[in-house]
Formats: sequence, structure tokens, C-alpha cells
Amino acid sequence: VENYVTLEFSSRSANEGFARTAAACFAAQLDPTLEEINDIKTAVSEAVTNAIVHAYPDRLGKIVMKLRFRAGNELEIVVKDWGVGIADVEQARTPLFTTGSEERSGMGFTIMESFMDTLRVRSTPGKGTTVTMRR
Ligand code: ATP
Ligand code: MG
Repeated sequence: VENYVTLEFSSRSANEGFARTAAACFAAQLDPTLEEINDIKTAVSEAVTNAIVHAYPDRLGKIVMKLRFRAGNELEIVVKDWGVGIADVEQARTPLFTTGSEERSGMGFTIMESFMDTLRVRSTPGKGTTVTMRR
């Protein structure tokens, strides 16, 4: 591993912007295009917002974001929570599926999938969720 950063933060909504900007700063080391930076920020925003909104619906909890460069300058972003988890990941990843309120569109995972090269979602109900994205 050539370089990595790990950030731990609480699920306060203010930290979404922090995580998004931190990911952009880390990715900037590879001299990406503005479009690439914006894609990464969008994907991180969706993943972290999910951890804030869905993982801890009625309390504050821990979120960890790991950023690292892999061989071939591939960026890997891991967003992990210890919240409620997802019973059916395949269903959750379906476009427009949401358990959220009116203002959620159910497009977060679809956006992550389209803006990154790969998306892996591991989740255990009651234990938490790990989202791994590469690009
Ligand atoms: P949008 O992202 O468009 O605002 P959304 O968050 O509901 O809407 P997705 O991000 O695609 O849509 O997530 C789909 C569903 O997966 C969520 O409604 C929620 O039920 C579940 N989910 C996603 N991330 C988590 C998480 N970290 N912990 C628990 N449940 C999650
Ligand atoms: Mg979402």
C-alpha cells in the first residue's frame, strides 16, 4: 500500500461535508481531473450520508472512512458503520428502493455504482455496514 488515511467521526450530519472534502484532498495526490474529483465527492457523500441517516436513525454512532491507493494508482474508499445494518443488500441496491422518508429518492447506491468502478456492500443486521468503492 503506497498511502492511506483513516478518519473516524461521529454520525453528526455536519461531518458529511468534512468526509467529502477529505476524500477529495486525498484523491488530489494523483492529479485527477475536476470531473474525477467531483465523482469521488459525490460517491463519498452518498455513502457517508447513508451511514448518518440510515445506520443510526435515533442515536449518534461511529463512522470510519478509510482512503487508500492500491497498485496501479487505484483509489479505494471504505465507509464503515456499526449501526442497524441492511437485511437485504440486493434489494437496497435496487434503483429507487428506499426505507427513508419523502426526501430520499433511493438512488444513493445507484449513484455510487455509476460514479465509481466497483461497489461492494457488506452488511449484517444489528452489526453494521461496510461499503467499499474503487476507482
Ligand atoms: P437517497 O440516497 O437517494 O437519498 P436512500 O438513502 O434511501 O435515498 P440508497 O442510498 O440507495 O437510497 O440506500 C437504499 C436503502 O439502503 C436505504 O433506504 C436504507 O434502507 C438502506 N441503507 C443504505 N445504507 C445503509 C446503512 N449504512 N445502514 C443501514 N441501512 C442502509
Ligand atoms: Mg442514500
